[in-house]
Amino acid sequence: MHPSYDVIIAGAGPVGLFLACELALAGCAVLVLEREPDPDSPLKRLPFGLRGLNAPTIAAFERRGLLDELAMPAPLAHTAGVPGSRPGGHVAGIQFSIDDVDTTQWPWRLPDAGAPTRMAEMAALERVLARRAQALGVTIRRGAAVDAVRRHADGVTVTAGGATFAAAWLAGCDGGRSAVRKALGVSFAGTEPAFTGYTVSADIAHPELLRPGRNLTPAGMYLQSQPGYLVLQDFDGGAFHDSGERPTRAHVEALLRRISGTGVAIEALHVATTWTDRARQAVAYRSGRVLLAGDAAHIHAPLGGQGLNLGIGDAMNLGWKLAATIRGKAPDGLLDSYHAERHPAGARVLDWSRAQVAAMAPEPGARALHAVLRDLLATRDGATYAAGRVWGVLQRYDLGQPHPLAGRGMPAFAFDDRSAVDALMRAGRGFLLDFSDASSRATLAGEYGIAYVPASAPERLGTSCLLVRPDGIVAWASEGRDDCGGLRDAMARWFAA
Ligand SMILES: Cc1cc2nc3c(=O)[nH]c(=O)nc-3n(C[C@H](O)[C@H](O)[C@H](O)COP(=O)(O)OP(=O)(O)OC[C@H]3O[C@@H](n4cnc5c(N)ncnc54)[C@H](O)[C@@H]3O)c2cc1C
Repeated sequence: MHPSYDVIIAGAGPVGLFLACELALAGCAVLVLEREPDPDSPLKRLPFGLRGLNAPTIAAFERRGLLDELAMPAPLAHTAGVPGSRPGGHVAGIQFSIDDVDTTQWPWRLPDAGAPTRMAEMAALERVLARRAQALGVTIRRGAAVDAVRRHADGVTVTAGGATFAAAWLAGCDGGRSAVRKALGVSFAGTEPAFTGYTVSADIAHPELLRPGRNLTPAGMYLQSQPGYLVLQDFDGGAFHDSGERPTRAHVEALLRRISGTGVAIEALHVATTWTDRARQAVAYRSGRVLLAGDAAHIHAPLGGQGLNLGIGDAMNLGWKLAATIRGKAPDGLLDSYHAERHPAGARVLDWSRAQVAAMAPEPGARALHAVLRDLLATRDGATYAAGRVWGVLQRYDLGQPHPLAGRGMPAFAFDDRSAVDALMRAGRGFLLDFSDASSRATLAGEYGIAYVPASAPERLGTSCLLVRPDGIVAWASEGRDDCGGLRDAMARWFAA
């Protein structure tokens, strides 16, 4: 069967849709196959659909001009806050304050960059991304569950919803139980869960019996974000979730009573879904012409909200590399750098979630660890470390470059004229940003077909020149003028002459 598309993407979740946008932006023909006929779900709407976005995700949406389109809900009445402090996030349920974060410890960020956290609603995010994907020419087929994958030397054939589709490449963005990953036989390595988590919407008689905020108790954890909206953790080794049973009103009521130590009653159960802290990661993000991204490549506890951010990071990293490969414009090894960069990023998040679960278990060792964490997070260094992890500010790809900006997202410099940089970022193109107007660099950029952007900004963090990849990552940075050798190597690594 002749491939009709450059890429088929399995799954129209946020990661599949964002990847579709990135590929279409670079001129690829993309088909998205989505299992569910209807994108709407109460779990994607507030309050359950609330998702925290971190610095790399906010930067990705900003670069592509999407941030303003995302209707951000007003912060939910979050009772977990410490009075008088500005919550910056939490670690194992322990909140840290923005006011304790010492941003001077991050010299690669602009001094006035602020706290990079924002909220988004899953439903709104998917709507915006689907609209953008379609505007860019992506075809989205809903009610088409991918159930078979066949690989050929020059492409992939996929069966979904009783029809067969062919493409040169396939991306599995079909969530934690990914059919694509299973069809590939790629091992999903990791650790088994400690708990079953519950997300619940219910009519509760006397919700005031429950304490506000996130409560670790001798039997587990409960959080009432607003009356009737609950998150529970029952340390049953994930047994209830894995049994496949659906949580009933009686089950949730008994569980809530046991965990909260109250006699609270549930009058009606509206929504109840379960999840676990199972932490697994695909050992390979690429197998020939098939790639994995998002939850299809990694799953972990949603503590501290990292999964969506990790998946958007995958898509931002993969999109331009796959597009360059398809167009025959990729230097050797470009596509394999996707796994090399994103697998370690995923592994760090899995360990971050494991560390939190270990400190939340209802047993004495964990309680002692939790108390130590609480003390540490109340210090400036502790809060700064936590913010660096939770906000994604510490994220850096190891590109083997010494400059502290290399491997990190380009800072949002306050350019005197930002139109050229904005236009290139919106178009998903890399560029050479020069604060020192060195003509030799312009010539080199021309050799590689890279836009050369002379720029000025009041604060440039000591840099004179930066090579920026299409995903906004600084591939190379310099503080001097005579460094075309290093620049040439960096150009050749990321761009085809
Ligand atoms: C309670 C909770 C709170 C969370 N909070 C946060 C947060 O604050 N911040 C954060 O970053 N992350 C958070 N996460 C994690 C985040 O929601 C996920 O990591 C994210 O949705 C993953 O996106 P995805 O597109 O990879 O997968 P999904 O969102 O799972 O989308 C996969 C899509 O593929 C479709 N699909 C499945 N199988 C097939 C098939 N065979 N063929 C075709 N289509 C298929 C599905 O229907 C779905 O539309 C939270 C998760 C939970 C459970």
